[in-house]
Amino acid sequence: MRVAIAGAGLAGLSCAKYLCDAGHTPVIYEARDVLGGKVAAWQDADGDWYETGLHIFFGAYRNMRQLFAELAIEDRLQWKSHSMIFNQKEKPGTYSRFDFPDIPAPFNGVAAILGNNDMLTWPEKIAFGLGLVPAMLRGQDYVEECDKYSWTEWLRLHNIPERVNDEVFIAMAKALNFIDPDEISSTVVLTALNRFLQEADGSRMAFLDGNPPQRLCEPIVEYVRERGGEVHLQAPLREIRLDGSGAVAGFRIGGIAGKEPLEVEAEAYVSALPVDPLKLLLPEAWKSLPYFSKLEGLKGVPVINIHLWFDRKLTAIDHLLFSRSDLLSVYADMSNTCREYADPDRSMLELVFAPAKDWIGRPDDEIVAATMEELKRLFPMHFTGEDQARLRKSVVVKTPLSVYKTVPGCQQLRPEQQSPIPNFFLAGDFTMQRYLASMEGAVLSGKLCAAAVDRARSGATGPSAALAAV
Ligand SMILES: Cc1cc2nc3c(=O)[nH]c(=O)nc-3n(C[C@H](O)[C@H](O)[C@H](O)COP(=O)(O)OP(=O)(O)OC[C@H]3O[C@@H](n4cnc5c(N)ncnc54)[C@H](O)[C@@H]3O)c2cc1C
Repeated sequence: MRVAIAGAGLAGLSCAKYLCDAGHTPVIYEARDVLGGKVAAWQDADGDWYETGLHIFFGAYRNMRQLFAELAIEDRLQWKSHSMIFNQKEKPGTYSRFDFPDIPAPFNGVAAILGNNDMLTWPEKIAFGLGLVPAMLRGQDYVEECDKYSWTEWLRLHNIPERVNDEVFIAMAKALNFIDPDEISSTVVLTALNRFLQEADGSRMAFLDGNPPQRLCEPIVEYVRERGGEVHLQAPLREIRLDGSGAVAGFRIGGIAGKEPLEVEAEAYVSALPVDPLKLLLPEAWKSLPYFSKLEGLKGVPVINIHLWFDRKLTAIDHLLFSRSDLLSVYADMSNTCREYADPDRSMLELVFAPAKDWIGRPDDEIVAATMEELKRLFPMHFTGEDQARLRKSVVVKTPLSVYKTVPGCQQLRPEQQSPIPNFFLAGDFTMQRYLASMEGAVLSGKLCAAAVDRARSGATGPSAALAAV
């Protein structure tokens, strides 16, 4: 069966890969001239790469790891020591670590928390540990019920001191969804904690060994093409055309970069677009269906990714760092963490700037200047005195609408991959799957979408029962 897919982010690529495995022929239409969507990256005139986002892979990413194994590229994941490393607010230039020993879960997580005495006091650790008991005992049902609370509200309900937020969870909420604990749904934080506490290697982190379009996306494209599928860049979906029954009659594609517009017909159609552009393309006739109308409640969150190239090494740490700074979220010295970006003498810091709502519209030089002020606290030894580190160049990448903002109440708005339209399906990190808005979520959504397409094969050409009532 020929399946038209709009979007070559990880969700669209994964959907195509698993459709090939099920014996179908996917054809991907991507709007931009680069693969990967939110993992897209570009090379500057010096040959240096800059990325949409600093990306971390976790041990808990089972579907992503299986995909790497199926593509025979597991060696491209550079696993780091099993630790979480935070900058210390009160002691500039120093770090506090949670080190996970090599023992079964949840004991390794408990040992990591108990072993850290810089950030949490014993009464705070005990209050927090007791608060987590329902999540550990009742699992995902409890985690889903908590979607009515923000993380700050959840902490208050469990009499956990606000200081725990200041010490740990501002950094974690910003890392998970680029927003603060007052805004983020407690379901998101509890989902991450549950994965980290229930799987021995769940919180272990890896970096890709190079730029994601070439090192991760291209192997998927090769896999798809070798099996008869197609991937077209600069081929944006412009319109979802309907037949008389309200099912999809075709995708109208393109008309950019000197190419003629195309009318594409297939036996099934997949949107692997982010939720914001998808909402703009929904046909009028579908908008009143609850499945589509609830998408109005999902909206991308702004985030900024900054690259700073220095004239010297600022740190030897080969890991992700939680900055615990007001403006920044996580960062890493990519000259240490990533083989393709390696430089033994000079640092390239990649930093996530969040929350970014007040900064996304500001000029790049102001954003870089504000980041440099934060770096003076993180690396005081390099930015005081006579011989200070010099910034060689910088690149700022802004994403005004990135992953959907996971405020309380969003879980019920996330759509299944099978829509009420028999020949139309959704993939994307915002669609319902047990992982969050993440690379793992995107890959899993693509896999679930491919399975839904395969299941619906027999009924795919029938009239749209769901639309009969519209
Ligand atoms: C700064 C940042 C840091 C992140 N860090 C992490 C991390 O550390 N770990 C992690 O797991 N996740 C992280 N993420 C999240 C992760 O990148 C996303 O969850 C994931 O890549 C989303 O994949 P997707 O395929 O669902 O959507 P996207 O990647 O957005 O793909 C959608 C594709 O659709 C295309 N498109 C849009 N409109 C059209 C159209 N009309 N026609 C055709 N194509 C169209 C887009 O160009 C894009 O290629 C981060 C994201 C950002 C922005």
